Amino acid sequence: MTTERHYLADEAATLELGADLGRRLAPGSCVYLRGDLGAGKTTLMRGLLHGLGHRGAVKSPTYTLVEPYEVGGVPIYHFDLYRLGDPEELEMIGIRDYFDGRALCVLEWPDRGRGMIPEPDLTVTLTVDGRGRQANLEWAHGQH
Ligand code: ADP
Ligand code: MG
Repeated sequence: MTTERHYLADEAATLELGADLGRRLAPGSCVYLRGDLGAGKTTLMRGLLHGLGHRGAVKSPTYTLVEPYEVGGVPIYHFDLYRLGDPEELEMIGIRDYFDGRALCVLEWPDRGRGMIPEPDLTVTLTVDGRGRQANLEWAHGQH
């Protein structure tokens, strides 16, 4: 496992890290975004999508569980499992179909889907640090 730490002084730095990750992640990757409410998970995802060329809005899929995108021909699924009551509910939205080896899947609150989602290729943990954020990256398969 390879780890990295980044200090993100402001929102722009979070967006930039997201854009950088979008360039580094292979299609078919699974990314976990960990951190408390307000830590910057959705902001990071906005940076990732905009960095890859998505021009529209990026809304938090808190109530819908998943928001689908297609950027440059690659399907990207943004999950937010915060409101998930029971991991079994993921069965009902056909969770397995999203992880098809081609789509990039990014999940906020992945621990709530335990047992129903694949192991991550990258875990990003965001924590509040002063006025900014600390980002801890854990790559499962070495250098990127
Ligand atoms: P989450 O999805 O983790 O609940 P959000 O992405 O919605 O969090 O972000 C919450 C707030 O944190 C937003 O107002 C955003 O502008 C702010 N924010 C994001 N990154 C930073 C940063 N590096 N420093 C300061 N504020 C940040
Ligand atoms: Mg969020």
